[in-house]
Amino acid sequence: MDFLSRKARAILPYTAGEQLRDRAYIKLNTNENPYPPSPRVAEVLARTEADGLRRYPRPDAGLLRAAVARHEGVLPENVFCGNGSDEVLALSFPAFFDGEGAGACFADLTYSFYEVFAAFFGIPKKIVTLKADFSLDLAAMRAADCQGYYIANPNAPTGVGIGRAEMEAFVASVPQKIVIADEAYMDFFGESLAPLTKKYPNLLVVKTFSKSYSLAGMRCGYAVGDAALIAGLFRMKDCFNSYPVDAVCEAVCAAALEDEAYHTETVARVVSERERLRGELLNMGFTVPKSGANFLFAGRGARSGKEIYTKLKEAGILVRFWDKPVLRDFCRITVGSPAENDALIKQLHSILL
Ligand code: PMP
Repeated sequence: MDFLSRKARAILPYTAGEQLRDRAYIKLNTNENPYPPSPRVAEVLARTEADGLRRYPRPDAGLLRAAVARHEGVLPENVFCGNGSDEVLALSFPAFFDGEGAGACFADLTYSFYEVFAAFFGIPKKIVTLKADFSLDLAAMRAADCQGYYIANPNAPTGVGIGRAEMEAFVASVPQKIVIADEAYMDFFGESLAPLTKKYPNLLVVKTFSKSYSLAGMRCGYAVGDAALIAGLFRMKDCFNSYPVDAVCEAVCAAALEDEAYHTETVARVVSERERLRGELLNMGFTVPKSGANFLFAGRGARSGKEIYTKLKEAGILVRFWDKPVLRDFCRITVGSPAENDALIKQLHSILL
């Protein structure tokens, strides 16, 4: 007897990067930050009283929303918080797209969760092929018949970013369609559209604490947008989970957000290592598009991404590869600490000999 629904049997779920615990790895496969979160996070955790956890947290994550609103220069009514930006993105599909509508438009090579969410919520997808240099074909997107867009900026897994002016022109040119800008990696690029949400009611910007704030284990992300869009996300949340942001998470993320000096410094370190690592990879003959993220997309002709992944894994270094057209010629390497990057460079030299 198979108790699974037809939908559960048919769906192809998202595959997350490996989280292996069998040995110590240099882990450059899930775009985590090599630096610890702000010291203020440890202070909040030390102050947290277990007794407080008897109570449910705030259903609207009000404390964190206020902190995010201050940080983004908007009002709390313009902020929604969820259990990772994955959850925020998931809720955005049923909030803004109809099953019988024209669909959600996104690139062929982008964050593969969009495709899973569209399938799960029964929303048609309109796929636009990236240009040969991995940049997004915004003209083709503009021309697509769809209800709205998902644009990962910078894109994953390529790392390619689109500047604010170009994105603004795009958002302004499609006033009847919603544009969801997934800015998971934006802090490493510095061209966020968040301030423009005040000007464009069709723009929703989604961000995360997982990458630049070093809090992937906390599971928290947020959206910034017009109050009507945020109310739509709340409607979906309240059909699914009343309390997606727990009490510890709220306090931890608010503290991390307020330590701007620490954030600026760790982001700058990652960016400088990204540029150093890219230079080394280019010297080794890799093709590496310029990245605005905390990872690099590196391909080396005849060597498949899987081959490089396998050899690095034997040496205790994890990177990510995909067995899909185009992507299979590349692997995605998260920028680690200087020592981790040195170890990677050394191993790559010996693999490529
Ligand atoms: N968007 C993109 C483009 C990502 O790569 C990721 C991380 N896998 C996410 C969103 C989700 O991150 P999180 O759920 O940790 O906030």
